[in-house]
Parts: sequence; C-alpha cells; structure tokens
Amino acid sequence: MAGLLAARVLSDHAEEVVVIERDDADVNAGARPGVPQGGQVHALLPAGAVQLERWFPGFVAQAIEGGAVVPPEDGSRAQFFVNGDLRVAPPIEQHTPALMSTRPFLEALVRRRTLAADNIRLVNGRADGLVFDGGKVTGASFVPNGAAAAVAAEAGLVVDAMGRSSRLGDWLEGNGWPRPPMRRMPIKLNYASAMFEYDERVSSLWSVVSQAGPDPDAGSPARIGGLLRVEGDRWIMLVSGYDDDRPSRDARDYARRCRKDFPEVFGDIAERARMVGDVTTYHQADSRRRDFHEVTRFPAGLIAAGDAIASFNPVYGQGMTSAALHASCLSQWLRSNPSLREPATAYFDTIRVVVDAAWQICTFADLELPHVNGPHPRGYRLLRWFSGQLFEAAMTDAITNDRLARVTTMLAHPNSLANFRTLLRVLAVRLRSGLASRRPRTR
Ligand SMILES: Cc1cc2nc3c(=O)[nH]c(=O)nc-3n(C[C@H](O)[C@H](O)[C@H](O)COP(=O)(O)OP(=O)(O)OC[C@H]3O[C@@H](n4cnc5c(N)ncnc54)[C@H](O)[C@@H]3O)c2cc1C
Repeated sequence: MAGLLAARVLSDHAEEVVVIERDDADVNAGARPGVPQGGQVHALLPAGAVQLERWFPGFVAQAIEGGAVVPPEDGSRAQFFVNGDLRVAPPIEQHTPALMSTRPFLEALVRRRTLAADNIRLVNGRADGLVFDGGKVTGASFVPNGAAAAVAAEAGLVVDAMGRSSRLGDWLEGNGWPRPPMRRMPIKLNYASAMFEYDERVSSLWSVVSQAGPDPDAGSPARIGGLLRVEGDRWIMLVSGYDDDRPSRDARDYARRCRKDFPEVFGDIAERARMVGDVTTYHQADSRRRDFHEVTRFPAGLIAAGDAIASFNPVYGQGMTSAALHASCLSQWLRSNPSLREPATAYFDTIRVVVDAAWQICTFADLELPHVNGPHPRGYRLLRWFSGQLFEAAMTDAITNDRLARVTTMLAHPNSLANFRTLLRVLAVRLRSGLASRRPRTR
C-alpha cells in the first residue's frame, strides 16, 4: 500500500516511476505471500478513505461498485461492545463513508489505479541493496524474479516501502551510514480471522467491535473481536488475544472462543454460518517505529514510507491510513521543490508528526495490557485519568464523541483534544451524569 501510494504521488513529479515488488502472486486472487497479514480483518479508517479519494478521484464509488460495503449512517447494523456490554454512543457526523472490504480487495483496486498512470511500471524482483555515489543514493539493486543475478535500477529518488521487516537499516550500515534507531513496544498480539457467507438468518449485523480490557479479578485477559461485512456477500470475523492467549488455526478452537469469549453474534456466526476457506492466524510481536528524523547522517536520494517507518498494534486500524498519510507528506515535500542532492530532512520531520500521532494513540492504550510495562509517557497517570473520563463522556455527549472519533479515525491529531474547551466539556458531562446517577429514583 505504501509503495503504490508513493508511486502515485511520484508520478506527478518524475519522468518514470518503477515499483519493484518481489511477490508476483495475482493480487486479484486474495491474500498473497508478500503481505502475510492480508487474510486478517483490515478496516480502512475514514482518513485513509479521504486520502485514497484524493489520489484516485472516484475511488470510493469504484470500491462500492466493486462490492465494498458501506454501513447505514444511522448505525442500525453496527454494534459496539465494551467489556461485554453493548454501548450506544451518540451518532457522529461522517463526511466520508466507512468502506468495509478485505485487504486484498482494497489493495487490488489501489494497484489498478496506480498502474493506470502512463509513467508507472511494476517490475517483479527482490530488492537487495542500494547503489551509492558518494553521499547520494543513485538507485536500487534487485534480482528480477527468475533471474540469478542482481541488476541495478537507476533512480533520482529511492523509496523504501518494504514493510515492517525492511532491511534498509542493514543496507545503510553495510555502506557506512548510521541505522535509524528503532523503538519497540512488545505487544505479543495474536489474531485469528475467518470468512463466512453472509446469512441474514444468522445475523443482520454488518459491523461489530468487541473490546474487553484485562480484568485481573475475573482472571480474564484483554481481547478484541471484530466483524465486518465485506465484498462478495461475506463476513470476515476476527478474534484476538495477547501474550499466551493464542487462537489456533483449528476451526473448533475458533468457534469455541467465539462462543465463550465474545458477544453472542460471534458464536452464532461461527456455529451457524458457512465458513469460506480456513481460519488464518497472525502473530505480531511488537509495535515498532524507526526514527529517521533522529539520524545525524543520512544519504540524499532516499526516503521510506509505510510500515518500513512505523508499524502499530493493528487493533487500532492505523496502518493503511498511515501509509496514505505518508504519501501526502511525500507530496507536500516534493511540492516544496527540494534538492534531491540533499538528505530528505524536511520529509522525515513531517513524517514524524504523523507517526507521533498514531504512536501516541496505540502505545498509550496498550499500556493497559498487563504484559506491557512501558515506556510510560510523561504525566501518564493524569493522562490515563483524563482519557478514561473522555471515553465515558463520549458515550453520552455527541460533541465529545465527535471530537474523539476524529482522533481515533486519524482525521485529527490527538493534541486537538488537549485543550481547555474539551477538558471543561468532559468534566461537565461527567459531573452531570454523576449527579444523574445519584439522583433518587422515582417510581
Ligand atoms: C494482523 C494485522 C491486521 C491489520 N489490520 C489493519 C487494519 O485493520 N487497518 C489498517 O489500516 N491496517 C491494518 N494492518 C496494518 C497494515 O497491514 C499495514 O500497515 C500496511 O499493509 C502497510 O503497508 P506497507 O506497504 O507499508 O507494507 P506491506 O503491506 O507489508 O507491503 C510491503 C510490500 O513490500 C514487498 N517487499 C518486501 N520486501 C521486498 C523486497 N526485498 N523486494 C521487493 N519487494 C519487497 C512485499 O511483497 C509487500 O508487497 C494490519 C496489520 C496486521 C499485521
């Protein structure tokens, strides 16, 4: 996703853009080996849809035409559970429809639209290094699929979009440059997803999120479950756990977890709807970010984007939207007419703002997990108290819910909540609801 979107942006500025992709599997045929997480639930946040529409006008309509599902705005087919309780928050104003589809569907459409540009070409091969000329990267070396030896592709600008396992740091170090420092938060997240035929006799719900925090008294761990109706008249349903709470690929284990650990609809679908294909699992050890803005020496002609820069706990759905926002940073940088003979410092400084915002949200929330023991941000206890009040206030107050949703869907920066106006509103809502709950009941 990051590579394709970067290519789309570059095509406005370059004579030719070459995408080197090692995976030659058919992108229209579902999850592919190069993106092993592709079979898991992938939600596109509204900010991601806004960016896709920006780079590919008509994208949302085209996705819907191809089968992507848009839930009704009145929320009638959606449910949201917190610690097993159904919560009904006030409706939020939505300017972009929330597109629901599988990841391969979305990626195939992005690829089709990207490669429709006359000056973008995709080559199948495995990138295995950088070509340098003094302090500048002048190309990438890659082994074309089926070939025995590497060839060099010359380029004015090279973009690393090789995902979270990118080896760019090794390549830099191997050529005498410092490797960007990596920060990690170990999360030990375990996903299991399966597809089912959509069947109204089983449920008429199109989207369900179930979020349970750890409860040491009850001995229950944190668990997230998700259900989306997607293209091809199917549901994709996710159950997840942390640490040693690890769903397997066994369909019986999956169904048992759905019934025991999640709201009723999960068990109903697992037991009564027809499963299409198998249960697929995925383990993610950590959230990680590479702080390119911190390196003191960096070659010109080289940038990175997407998971190669930062990859987050996927339960917050930030990855594809981050990749799209990185493309927007790339566009902003290129429009400033930078010299490609200098390191892309201004690009990495803008990227940092985007990464900080997503990182702040996901790592702050993950500090609640018992097996995650830091690092804690400054003022953590106060922030934790305030965010607890904020979430409760959002359940009853439309304006607070709207402000919070803009942040969690990446339409706004988390700092937009850190102001006196929001603080006063949250306290007033909480005070009112506290008083209301203390008011003696009349029959
Ligand atoms: C379980 C799970 C669930 C997720 N759910 C969501 C979600 O709900 N919403 C969301 O927005 N995000 C989600 N994400 C995150 C999302 O998958 C990533 O953020 C997103 O795919 C990042 O895109 P990318 O292009 O940077 O990297 P990738 O998608 O990993 O793509 C990297 C590409 O580089 C290619 N490549 C790698 N090495 C080489 C090489 N040496 N030579 C040539 N090609 C190479 C690969 O084949 C691949 O095509 C989830 C992630 C996981 C793990």
